[in-house]
Amino acid sequence: MAKVRLEGITRRFSKATAIADITFTVPDGQFWVLVGPSGCGKSTILRTIAGLETTTSGNLYIGDLLVNQIPARQRDVAMVFQNYALYPHMTVAENLAFGLRMRKANEQAIRERTQRVAQILNIDHLLDRKPRQLSGGQQQRVALGRAIARQPQVFLLDEPLSNLDAQLRDDTRAELKQLHQQVGITTIYVTHDQVEAMTLADQIVVLDRGQIQQIGDPQTVYAHPANRMVATFLGSPPMNLLSARYTSQGFWVQGQTLPYPPQLQSILQAEIGQMFDLGIRPEHLQVSQEAGDLTAIVTVLEPLGREILVRALLETEQTGTEPILTFQVKPDLGIQVGDRLSLQVDPNQLFVFNTTSGITLYPPKRNAN
Ligand code: ATP
Repeated sequence: MAKVRLEGITRRFSKATAIADITFTVPDGQFWVLVGPSGCGKSTILRTIAGLETTTSGNLYIGDLLVNQIPARQRDVAMVFQNYALYPHMTVAENLAFGLRMRKANEQAIRERTQRVAQILNIDHLLDRKPRQLSGGQQQRVALGRAIARQPQVFLLDEPLSNLDAQLRDDTRAELKQLHQQVGITTIYVTHDQVEAMTLADQIVVLDRGQIQQIGDPQTVYAHPANRMVATFLGSPPMNLLSARYTSQGFWVQGQTLPYPPQLQSILQAEIGQMFDLGIRPEHLQVSQEAGDLTAIVTVLEPLGREILVRALLETEQTGTEPILTFQVKPDLGIQVGDRLSLQVDPNQLFVFNTTSGITLYPPKRNAN
């Protein structure tokens, strides 16, 4: 096991900069997740660590060793891709043992190690089968097992669950977490799925357009996003965004006024009339029997079982410009499409972003990264 340090890593292709000035250190034994939308550069970072991609500038260390010039096969990292390829003519046991045989481990050690890995991954009853005799989830576990069996210093996973169906994905995700607790290998995991990022990570690295937006533990990044991109990317359903004008009475949103917390005035130091982007997480919008802060007309109901996902149009002074609000309600409220709802927002739960830069102004920054 080893820590991994990236120092100012940049990778430019002829037409684009895939990643720019990436710096972070994954401590020994931790599980870090790189997350962001398609094209944000997460696979390029992973491939750089694996040695499958060259860097334009910057330094990469595995343990204390500078590995910029060290070829992939000598880096002692194992990588599992979305399209993992098992050797079809080999049994599961042979697939698991492959990396160890290549390294000329002795047969006794290979047998013991494959057995142990198969037990951890719950595939020990499948050791004699060929890959075509396995389900997708079992094949995925063999691919993970083959990487683990080598006992690499670092484990790199690139969207390893994306080919699985929803149920299997959830199960395998939980298994992965357990597996990491058992073997403790330093792991860097790439995904565009924020649920995977939140549930698996010790620390999340949120990326956008080749740059780090924020690094933090899942709860901190969710509650204290550095900017609008991070705030809207993490959370399902995503945060509601409203364009609002600052007034002495509150935030004016196309004819409706939202109160702000008292301390906001001194934090924002805003001028009356200045525009901001407001963020409201769906869980902070409550349907109220009394006159609330906002009124909205229900347009779509999506039953989720325990709750109903509601989409509603905010009532505005001007028709045709109504922003959509998303929130969840209990089924027993009996809400129907077309209902006019009164919504309450806890002012302390508001997020305020600079409209141009997107930087979070409220809640104020809590911890430096
Ligand atoms: P996805 O989730 O879609 O896999 P990603 O976040 O992993 O995306 P990367 O594959 O790292 O993104 O790509 C980052 C950027 O670099 C993209 O704009 C991509 O088009 C560009 N890029 C990646 N590889 C190359 C290449 N070999 N030549 C030119 N541009 C590339």
